[in-house]
Amino acid sequence: MASSAGKRVVVVGGGTAGGLLAKTLQFQADVVLIDPKEYFEITWASLRAKVEPPVAERSTFKHSDYFTNGRIVISYAVGITETEVLTSDGQQIPYDYLVVASGHDDCVPRNRSERLEEYQTENEKIKSADSILIIGGGPTGVELAAEIAVDFPEKKVTLVHNKPRLLDFIGPKASRKTLDWLTSKKVEVILGQSVDLNSHSDGDRTYQTSGGETIEADRHFLCIGRPLSTSWIKESVLKNAVDARGRLMVDEHLRVKGCKNVFAIGDITDVPELKQGYLAQSHAMLTAKNLKLLMNGGKESKMAKYKPASEMAIVSLGRKEGVAQLPFATIIGCFPGMLKSKDLFVGKTRKQMGLK
Ligand SMILES: Cc1cc2nc3c(=O)[nH]c(=O)nc-3n(C[C@H](O)[C@H](O)[C@H](O)COP(=O)(O)OP(=O)(O)OC[C@H]3O[C@@H](n4cnc5c(N)ncnc54)[C@H](O)[C@@H]3O)c2cc1C
Repeated sequence: MASSAGKRVVVVGGGTAGGLLAKTLQFQADVVLIDPKEYFEITWASLRAKVEPPVAERSTFKHSDYFTNGRIVISYAVGITETEVLTSDGQQIPYDYLVVASGHDDCVPRNRSERLEEYQTENEKIKSADSILIIGGGPTGVELAAEIAVDFPEKKVTLVHNKPRLLDFIGPKASRKTLDWLTSKKVEVILGQSVDLNSHSDGDRTYQTSGGETIEADRHFLCIGRPLSTSWIKESVLKNAVDARGRLMVDEHLRVKGCKNVFAIGDITDVPELKQGYLAQSHAMLTAKNLKLLMNGGKESKMAKYKPASEMAIVSLGRKEGVAQLPFATIIGCFPGMLKSKDLFVGKTRKQMGLK
């Protein structure tokens, strides 16, 4: 077999999927990791970090802490040709194999220290408010409302969601149970309405909903869905592989449709399954295995296939409880809480990235 040494693997996106892939392949190839920020962030710990900022000390860490044998480019990828990735700071980075893992662009600070300060500021915002409005009832809005309701039960929390049910990425039973749980914690939930922030000015305590209701709140948090970071791909050589929902179409080996040497992993793909970090990690591990095979001259027919996972997700409800969507059941309370809510998989994820 030929040796993989010297093969250039470029990974776009240092999130859950891309970070793990870069770490896994770093001693097997010349790996370049492109990300607009200098650090990795465990996204599902970000709401706890708002009520307890020291959590972010462990849930964010520099790419250089786990990716020690490769090149890190702190920039946005803005284009792809058949041989190179172009970045917003004007670099052209050649590849033999490319892995697109650009999931979501959260527009967070470039430096870890600034991100930690941002959590501190948001925490002060929460602490100094008597009443808080949360706009959005997906996982981010629900987890934030729950964190505040549990840690600061004296604060008035209102959650406005523009859909008929909370957490509509999972089943209606989970939505109902979550609504009951939030209501029992005195969170006021308004469904089927939106809040227009365009007509709202800073310092104004009054918010209008689309249904004509008026909400008084000292602070608000906008927790609406995070768009996929694919607009930059639509102008590239991969443009025909982007589907109507902005996702990259992949084959059973997670190779981008029509490409031999370009893979896509994580939330950016059109794999028919819930978009979850533990699945993004599975994509990364399978792709690392396939890349090792190809780089060593192995046959394409021997590549591992990815089987979409069945529906499973846990949404934390404060520090001890959670709601779990399992393939055949929906559970709320301490059991899902034991699995996720105490540590939010921070220890497990750090270990996976080779950190204590
Ligand atoms: C509130 C909440 C709770 C969640 N809880 C869980 C949970 O308990 N368990 C679980 O498994 N999953 C959970 N998830 C889902 C999980 O966070 C995602 O599925 C996972 O982060 C997807 O990983 P990814 O690598 O595909 O994308 P991301 O983690 O979004 O990473 C994308 C990376 O690409 C970078 N990027 C974007 N655009 C570009 C560009 N143009 N050039 C270069 N880099 C770019 C970004 O900066 C980022 O670093 C939760 C999500 C939310 C919102």
